[in-house]
Amino acid sequence: MCGIFGCVLREGKAAPIIHQALKRLEYRGYDSVGVATIYDGRLQIKKDSGCVDDVHKKLDLNDLNGMIGIGHTRWATHGAPLMINAHPHTDCEGKIAVVHNGILENYSDLKAELLVRGHLFASRTDTEVVPHLIEDYMKQGFAFLDGVRETVKRLEGSYALAIIYANEPDKIVCARSQSPIVIGASDIDSCVSSDIPTVLPLTNKILDVQNGELGILTANTLNLVRISDGTPIQRDLRTITWDVELAQKQGYPHFMLKEIHEQPRCLEDAMRLQRRYIDLITTFLDRSREIYLLACGTSYNACLAAAYMFSNLCNLSTHPIIASEFIEQYGNAVNIESTILAVSQSGETADILHAIDHARFKAATILGLTNTIGSTLTRVSRAYVCQQSGPEIGVAATKTFTSQLLVLAQLALSLAEVRGKVSQERIDEFEVKLNEITHISETVINTQEEKVKAVVEKYRTAKCFYFLGRGINTATALEGRLKLLELAYVPSIAYPAGESKHGPISLIQEGFPAIFVCPKNETRKALIGNIMEMKARGAKIIAVLDEEDQEVKNLVDDYFEIPTGIPEILSPIPYVIPLQLFAYYMALARNCDPDKPKNLAKSVTVL
Ligand code: GLU
Repeated sequence: MCGIFGCVLREGKAAPIIHQALKRLEYRGYDSVGVATIYDGRLQIKKDSGCVDDVHKKLDLNDLNGMIGIGHTRWATHGAPLMINAHPHTDCEGKIAVVHNGILENYSDLKAELLVRGHLFASRTDTEVVPHLIEDYMKQGFAFLDGVRETVKRLEGSYALAIIYANEPDKIVCARSQSPIVIGASDIDSCVSSDIPTVLPLTNKILDVQNGELGILTANTLNLVRISDGTPIQRDLRTITWDVELAQKQGYPHFMLKEIHEQPRCLEDAMRLQRRYIDLITTFLDRSREIYLLACGTSYNACLAAAYMFSNLCNLSTHPIIASEFIEQYGNAVNIESTILAVSQSGETADILHAIDHARFKAATILGLTNTIGSTLTRVSRAYVCQQSGPEIGVAATKTFTSQLLVLAQLALSLAEVRGKVSQERIDEFEVKLNEITHISETVINTQEEKVKAVVEKYRTAKCFYFLGRGINTATALEGRLKLLELAYVPSIAYPAGESKHGPISLIQEGFPAIFVCPKNETRKALIGNIMEMKARGAKIIAVLDEEDQEVKNLVDDYFEIPTGIPEILSPIPYVIPLQLFAYYMALARNCDPDKPKNLAKSVTVL
């Protein structure tokens, strides 16, 4: 999730304006930075790895001439966060510069084609195919604008692009498919940006660019055309009345709520993982004698769910383990035949890195799943996969959890295929559901949020909650409880529901709220038994259930509904969403700041 910005002025220097804009876009990514302007008929480029301030200190980002330019702050998805992979990327002749936010799914095919046609690539990014493809079309006789249009027609995946061409220094061309982009227009300049807050210091007049559209900006004119056939689009400018802070949260009161709502998009991005990384990790997993799933906090809950996925799909037992316990519990057992799949959003969690040090010393194979390319975890792993969720600002993980689950499910499916453990029919069926999960999650958010608010009103003063589930949804219950605990400071308990009669049930008294994660699957009958046990002792039952499960609806006091027909191993993804929302609204109801829970930090870099 990078940030892109470009501006074209009637007078003055574009570079300082781009520099300031990149500072504001830094929340979207901060592993490398770059600016390109056009001056004297040539591209001028400064770029390097690091955050905006570091790169500015080194290179002076203001020190570029030219009234037109584009800039980028990167959150790497393809290629490490090194200088060569920093945007802008250029064609062979260094005349076309491109910044990109998104993931080009078919970049390997395009790159192979362009290599055959003699293009030389400088980076390992997906983005670099864009300037080369434009160059190629222009060599075939297309004008710049038509070359851009032909190029974007061939791109698959997501993109927001801003493009400049040294021979036409009056214009920026931008294009959109899924990744956000807006155009801003003032009396003295035009600009293009990943978000509205970055435009606001320049102007509050915005022109929206929608999917499938191409924008052409000069200092005095703005034009939109359809990518498919080049027909012009008429759209009026709109005036933004929000202030900058509200705009940064895109109208949401907190980053956490924004990130909960971003989940369908992130899941879609997690489905666009590079197949070769999944294949590589699958090969390592397939060869291992024993597999440890190493993580902390929310990522540990994802690992717990993953253990059910590997067992269910691949008939494989794995060991989910909390990183700080790894050495004590398995330190002596781990050896050259062991594989550690470490899961860490930041890739910098000290407990994980410490455990990995030990495992490497014992010659184990290290694999990583992280949201941060270039993090220590990616450097110490034999192979890693990046979940591509973009930076998560809310301290409590939400979007990164559901994306981790989706990546782990894809890994389990891939291993099942390699091992021939599931029928082709089941694989096909499962793949269809994988592709529907984005839509299902969106439905859950859209239909359940108001219900969650109403349920929170009923239980806002409760002193403790139970979260109970069975099978893979034990992990969902644990995650729901972790969210409530860390955000609303309600000391709560989560258990596999079958365990409750072995102890925890003794706490139950009249009115005690118990939340059950209850999909319609093989565990449901036993779970109904657990609901009855709790009810018999006066508990108030809240269930996250299948929308068609009338029987459970009749049993419980309150419920949140999830669309029917979700395979068991994907169920934690939609089933956790009402629990995330529940924790968020409980935090608000109890006057807690959900973005900044007490005593917690986003990336825990101490042991
Ligand atoms: N795929 C591009 C890169 O890795 C853009 C990344 C993004 O927008 O997240 O450089």
